[in-house]
Amino acid sequence: MNSFDFHNPTKILFGAGKLERLGEQVASCGSKTVLLVYGGGSIKKTGLYDRVLTQLANAGVRTVELPGVEPNPRVTTVRKGIELCRAEGVDLILAVGGGSVIDAAKAVAVGVPYEGDVWDFLMRKAKITAALPLGTVLTLSATGSEMNGNAVITNWEEKLKKSFASIYAYPQFSILDPTLTYTVPADQTVNGVVDMMSHVFEQYFSLTPDTPLQERLCESILQTIIENGERALAEPEQYEARANLMLCGTYALNGGMISVGVQTDWATHAIEHEVSAIYDIAHAAGLSILFPNWMKYVYRSRPERFVQVAVRVWNIDPAGKSEEEIALAGIQATRDYFTRIGAPARLADLGIGDSEIGRMAKEAVKFGPIGSFKVLHEDDVKAILQLSL
Ligand code: NAP
Ligand code: FE
Repeated sequence: MNSFDFHNPTKILFGAGKLERLGEQVASCGSKTVLLVYGGGSIKKTGLYDRVLTQLANAGVRTVELPGVEPNPRVTTVRKGIELCRAEGVDLILAVGGGSVIDAAKAVAVGVPYEGDVWDFLMRKAKITAALPLGTVLTLSATGSEMNGNAVITNWEEKLKKSFASIYAYPQFSILDPTLTYTVPADQTVNGVVDMMSHVFEQYFSLTPDTPLQERLCESILQTIIENGERALAEPEQYEARANLMLCGTYALNGGMISVGVQTDWATHAIEHEVSAIYDIAHAAGLSILFPNWMKYVYRSRPERFVQVAVRVWNIDPAGKSEEEIALAGIQATRDYFTRIGAPARLADLGIGDSEIGRMAKEAVKFGPIGSFKVLHEDDVKAILQLSL
């Protein structure tokens, strides 16, 4: 295990009814003017918007709004938010929504104190050195954005989707009330399950035999997602299922707690971002298609990792099977689970052909080769995209 620093500054308020603590949290930030960031209207339909406004009124703050954050949030919307903050003297950002809303809010937070264009951070032309404080109310279990410093932003004009990670972008507080996810539709619940499992996979395969705690943390999160994903789909208002999924999503990607001391992979995420940059598909739909194909492409580098996940997570009986057969059975079990819950298996399922494969592969390695389990170059990315057609 490598030496490491781990610092996660986000305070989590978890459980039914925790929304009632929002006003107190905002007041404790000493804020006078809040930018309320939200998406395409789900929070108005569910009544959450009114409940949030009541909390903000209780905190005695003035509220300015940035509505309409898109799934796969656009840098144009982020720029609008930055202008609003500057014009209105905003001193706290509050994101109410899923990963897209939270990521957009993070980009606004880091963009306000920066003199240049916020897109510079995504293109790695500038380093983040400051941010406005940020709080979140999570409405969709998926990304972990509520407890990490990452954001993924799309530049639709240039057909690019890029990410940043910064200690300045961690939320100060996040309210995780599982009852707020009861209204998440089945397809988005599926997306959340696939995204959080993918976050664990990105870290798990790079682990080494001297990191048994990290391995078991990953395996137990995967098992908990697998069980509770199907429960939440069968019964959307089942509190325990929604609560366990929410905790899994947060733990799966909260600054690397489950993979401390290890170089993690993230190649599949890098490839997926290029697919959604061009085709504007849901992030997890891309992951569902790509991940089992990444597995097939790389497993021979260290098949024992794939044997372990097959046996410990997918309960494959190893008796009478070769290492290769066990590894492949585990990969097939991953594909079968994704299919069983209704996630797509092929790019063709989303109407995507091979015309942009060259461009996507080139962009995926723009900042250098990707991955650590197996280092991937442009031709490897092309091959994985071909396998995914
Ligand atoms: P999302 O894009 O935030 O939301 C998807 C849809 O779900 C939206 O249409 C939203 O509607 C709806 N929704 C959210 N909460 C709801 C609720 N309680 N009831 C009903 N509908 C609800 O989905 P996401 O998967 O959380 O985020 C995806 C984005 O995060 C992608 O851009 C992805 O690349 C990025 N990502 C970030 C990280 C990270 O660490 N920061 C990690 C992985 C992925 P409204 O818009 O109307 O609210
Ligand atoms: Fe993700």
